[in-house]
Amino acid sequence: MEVILRMVFIAFIAISGMVMNHDLTTKAQSLHYLKEDLEVAAHDAALDIVESELATGRIVFDQSKAMTTFRNSFEKNSNLSSADYEIVEMHFLDHSTITTFPHRFEATKVGFSDVITAPTIMAFIETKKNAYYGGSSEESFTQVASYTYQPQEQNILGVNAMASRANVSVAMIGNASSQGFHWPVPFTDNVTSNFGMRTHPVTGERKLHAGTDIATPGVFNTPTIPAKSGTVIFAGYIAGYGNVVMVSHGNGLETRYAHLNSISVAAGQEVGLGDVLGKIGNTGVGTGPHLHFEVRVNGVPYDPMTFY
Ligand SMILES: [Zn+2]
Repeated sequence: MEVILRMVFIAFIAISGMVMNHDLTTKAQSLHYLKEDLEVAAHDAALDIVESELATGRIVFDQSKAMTTFRNSFEKNSNLSSADYEIVEMHFLDHSTITTFPHRFEATKVGFSDVITAPTIMAFIETKKNAYYGGSSEESFTQVASYTYQPQEQNILGVNAMASRANVSVAMIGNASSQGFHWPVPFTDNVTSNFGMRTHPVTGERKLHAGTDIATPGVFNTPTIPAKSGTVIFAGYIAGYGNVVMVSHGNGLETRYAHLNSISVAAGQEVGLGDVLGKIGNTGVGTGPHLHFEVRVNGVPYDPMTFY
């Protein structure tokens, strides 16, 4: 399977917990190089994923291979030997243990935490004085390098591979419509209310129903996925909508996913087919668990069904 991974650097922080003294000028210089070498090494190690798992929709790291690759890469980049440094902690945050991203990660030994948005390899390296960096009066210090993996969707062939980031079964994601839209609820295509003027079932008010409602028994807490790839521009609570995710697809095209029980993405995040935006629920104003799905062009709501 042809899969090209885009590496997204997410965190790179000097840990000061083990730093006893401060020799800022020389330290800044030496840390700079160590930081870059760690970054390169983490990047190289990032290539070690289990391809068979990727084909089933999960990113899982080949941990022993990744560890070996990381050591080789780091030693090559830093000119350190294994006696000069110690891997204090190394973490493989992948779909073998984490089913929902973003995930709050805490490194217990070194007192570090961060929010991990996608599968990530993270390494904490402790080096000793003058083993690699010069001029510091410190005995040792620790740094962290990490890389996050996100498939670059235009380089992935076919729907099956596109779903590699998903918690949704590939088989449940239908083919795209002629306009490139995927159905946002893999678990049902049952429409309970169409776009158009209606008397609102709760408020009694007659007004435009600006989207399509999708529901079926058992739909509560099942995932909703983006109809097209795009960038999350809003993820949060709005009166009426409840928990809602809004995704921009460029050229003024936007989709909205409302009444969610929970939200799985954050504003600014890039999402593609198979990414779970959230779980269907009954927040905001509604009569029961359903997805309220909207398509807007330059802010004006259009009938979502015309995109399928
Ligand atoms: Zn609705």
